[in-house]
Amino acid sequence: MSRLREDDVAIVTGAARGIGAETVRHLAAAGAAVVATDVVVPDGEIAENDDGRVIFQRLDVVRSAEWAAAVDVAERRFGPVTVLVNNAGILDWGGVTDMDEATFRRLLDVNTIGTFLGMKAVVASMTAAGHGAIVNISSTAGMSGSPHSIGYTASKWAVRGMTKSAALELAPRGIRVNSVHPGLIDTSMGSSGTGRIGLPPLGRMGAAADVARVVTFLASSDAAFVTGSEHIVDGGMLAGRP
Ligand code: NDP
Repeated sequence: MSRLREDDVAIVTGAARGIGAETVRHLAAAGAAVVATDVVVPDGEIAENDDGRVIFQRLDVVRSAEWAAAVDVAERRFGPVTVLVNNAGILDWGGVTDMDEATFRRLLDVNTIGTFLGMKAVVASMTAAGHGAIVNISSTAGMSGSPHSIGYTASKWAVRGMTKSAALELAPRGIRVNSVHPGLIDTSMGSSGTGRIGLPPLGRMGAAADVARVVTFLASSDAAFVTGSEHIVDGGMLAGRP
């Protein structure tokens, strides 16, 4: 497994469950201090660990003030933020003809603007640290189109595009920015897609840990020369028709 530095400080959003909670566990096991955040307090899934290197902070990713508070907590408790995992996301099905405007806007607000606000919030801290790694969780829906998914698809393509612009802008500061594109992952969100999508060529749904391992690699110095790139974790789904 990739290792992080002892002075690495990570913020993970949407960490009360699913991919976010698993990512917190992986980053902590890799050696980082972690501020796990979510709109809801986790029900024991990511309790603070014994040595106090994982703490929970409430953070709604659409609220700039809560981002500032989360960064402040991280800096006071552990030091400058060096890793950000923009994982929080919502899914709503609906196509051009049946998705209402408010739902489309809400998808963009959480999935896209939330990711933008996160990157914006950590740049000063990462610049002070002299290095940083931002991992934006997009989706296979950010690599291709699918019917009845107009808002989610828009929001996740935007995450992929923003990742590249931010990578170019932040490279001179030593900050790497990459996107991860999960396919069907066994979480509460992923289980809503099984009937619609079917299993990928590898014959199973992905586990949250399949994504968390890739995120941990991208956060680590093993990925020191990797920025602005896309990392698909989908069991072969996008490879083509089997
Ligand atoms: P889950 O729904 O299991 O977990 C997402 C977490 O994010 C929930 O705890 C949710 O809280 C939280 N959240 C929602 N809105 C906000 C907000 N405004 N601010 C902070 N936290 C929020 O999802 P997954 O773990 O499956 O997904 C994680 C990421 O991976 C998402 O970005 C998703 O789009 C992406 N992804 C997932 C796939 C899958 O198959 N699972 C496939 C492709 C991409 P609450 O419980 O209140 O909603």
